[in-house]
Amino acid sequence: MKLTDINEIKRLAARHGFKFSKTLGQNFLTDEYVVESTAEASAENGVEYALEVGPGFGVLTKELSKYYKKVVAVEIDRAVLPVLEETLADCQNVTVINADVMKTDLHALIDGHFNGGPVNVAANLPYYITTPVITSLLESGANISSITVMVQKEVADRLVAAPGSKDCGAISAAVAYRARAKKLFDVPPECFIPAPKVTSSVIKLEMRDVPAAAVEDEKLFFAVIKAAFAQRRKQLINSLANAFPHFSKEQIRQAVEQSGLSADVRGEKLSLESFAKISDLLSKGVNI
Ligand code: SAM
Repeated sequence: MKLTDINEIKRLAARHGFKFSKTLGQNFLTDEYVVESTAEASAENGVEYALEVGPGFGVLTKELSKYYKKVVAVEIDRAVLPVLEETLADCQNVTVINADVMKTDLHALIDGHFNGGPVNVAANLPYYITTPVITSLLESGANISSITVMVQKEVADRLVAAPGSKDCGAISAAVAYRARAKKLFDVPPECFIPAPKVTSSVIKLEMRDVPAAAVEDEKLFFAVIKAAFAQRRKQLINSLANAFPHFSKEQIRQAVEQSGLSADVRGEKLSLESFAKISDLLSKGVNI
C-alpha cells in the first residue's frame, strides 16, 4: 500500500468514513521524496528510538519504522486509529498512542517507552501547535537527541534564525540556546492532501549536550529574552524597565553597560552571550 498515493489516501478515507479536520491541521504528505528525506535526515545520528507527533494515516511513521528499532506515534484523532491499524499492520516496531501531545508528559513517555532514550523526534507537525510543541520538547528535560520537523516556512525561518539576525525572535534564541538548528528543504503546498495555503519547510534541531551559553538563572534569562523581543524596536533598557519594574532603570542601564553593550542598543541585536551576561548581572542584583 503506497501511502503517498492520493487515490490510496482517498480510498482509505472513504472506507473508514474519515473526514479531514482543518482544526487538527490534517494536511497529509503525498510526496515520496519529502517523506523519505525527512525520515532519513531524522535517523542520521544512529539513535534507535523515534517519537512521532501526529502520524495521520502513517505515511511518515511507516518510513521511520524502517530506520528505527522502535517508533512511538502520538495521535489525538481517534478517527485515524482504525486507519493506522490497517496501514501499519506490517510494522511490528510501531506503537500508536491516542493522546493530545500538548497534554502528554513527554519526559515520562520517553522514559517509559524508550527506557530513558535517547530518542529522535520526527513529525509533520500540525501548524496550530508548532511553537508550543517545539518549546515543550526543548524544555522537557527528556533525553532527546534531535528534532526533525515540518513546519510553516515563515516559522522555520524564525526557528533557525541566529540570535542577532533579522528573523530572530524569542523562540529562535530559545532554540539556539539548546540546539543547533538548520533548515533542510522547503515543501510546496502541492505535496499535501488537502493542500495548505502556505509553503512548509523541514528543519532539524540537533540538541546540544550543554546549552550554548552559561547562565545563573535560566528563568530570568528567558524572561530577559522575552522582554527584549516583546518590544524589539525599542531600546533594550526601556523594554527591560517595562518588564522588570522591581529593578530600577539605573540597575538595568548598569547591567547593559557592564555587559559591554551601549546604552541605546536594541534587544533584537543581542547575542546569547549578551543575554546571559545581562541576566546574570540582574540576578546578582547588579553590583552597584
Ligand atoms: N504525519 C502525517 C503526514 O505527514 O501525512 C499527518 C501530519 S498532519 C500535518 C498532523 C497530524 O497531527 C494529524 O494526524 C492530526 O490529527 C495530528 N494532531 C493534531 N493535533 C494533535 C495533538 N494535539 N496531539 C497529537 N496529534 C495531533
